Amino acid sequence: AIPLVVSISTSLSAEKGLLIRNRTAFENARKVSAIVFDKTGTLTEGKFGVTRIHSSGEWKKDQILKFAASLESSSEHPIAQGVLEKAKEANITLKEVSNFESITGKGIQGDIDGKTYQVVSPGYLEENSISIPQETDSDEAETIVFLLEEKKLLGFIALADSIREESHQAIKTLREKGIKLYMATGDNEKTAKAVSEQLKLDGYYSEVLPDEKVKVIEELQKKGEFVAMTGDGVNDAPALAKADIGIAVGSGTDVAVETADIILVNSNPQDIAKLILFGKATYNKMI
Ligand code: ADP
Ligand code: MG
Repeated sequence: AIPLVVSISTSLSAEKGLLIRNRTAFENARKVSAIVFDKTGTLTEGKFGVTRIHSSGEWKKDQILKFAASLESSSEHPIAQGVLEKAKEANITLKEVSNFESITGKGIQGDIDGKTYQVVSPGYLEENSISIPQETDSDEAETIVFLLEEKKLLGFIALADSIREESHQAIKTLREKGIKLYMATGDNEKTAKAVSEQLKLDGYYSEVLPDEKVKVIEELQKKGEFVAMTGDGVNDAPALAKADIGIAVGSGTDVAVETADIILVNSNPQDIAKLILFGKATYNKMI
């Protein structure tokens, strides 16, 4: 069986955008009964565009963008790229930031002109008992980040990302094979729900902190599922290790790549569908 598996995994990696790091992972592919996908960059394009900016007080929208973009210039999150692009379009010059830090799964912070600013998630506001402005309500599935000055709300930036074309087909193929499909994301409830509904997933987990992803995997495993999970960040590594098959996505961090059984080179969920179909077909041929 070794030459068969080796030749299959070689052709899969060459043609299908997958790197299979161990033989067991390939043999296990046919057993997968549930998949937990990450959202940003896997089910969606991972390219955020700013849709609107809102000021909660006297700050001008451009000033909100300027401070947020200055902080985001030290972040590698897709949200950061969206904010920076908008600032560039508006010819905004960035401020100097010191003491930059990321707040895991919730946002970023840094000092500008001697004051601490943060660009954070709705969950962070809730935790700090800062009320979320009504203007965040919209019919669109938006990802919203808030700009705070010393914990005071200055305004927010709304961004939108779109579902990848290939996700629809991949999800359909996997569903037809009876595989349960879930999404775990750090993004807000509303956006998670919208993506989940559009793709007709079996369920979703929103506002999930990176270390909580392990619990999601365990919960499914306790129900008897054989779980594959996709992830990209350093913080996804424990969950990738916990999953029966850990799939590191695209240009994921080294830690995620080292922990994973499979690397999804092009971040394309259709490659996962192909792997599982291929795994099942190969197994049927062997028996
Ligand atoms: P995901 O990979 O699903 O987007 P993350 O854990 O990376 O989840 O992020 C969760 C949330 O934390 C984001 O939706 C956003 O609200 C906030 N966040 C993370 N990084 C940043 C950033 N650089 N700027 C602003 N908000 C951020
Ligand atoms: Mg992430």
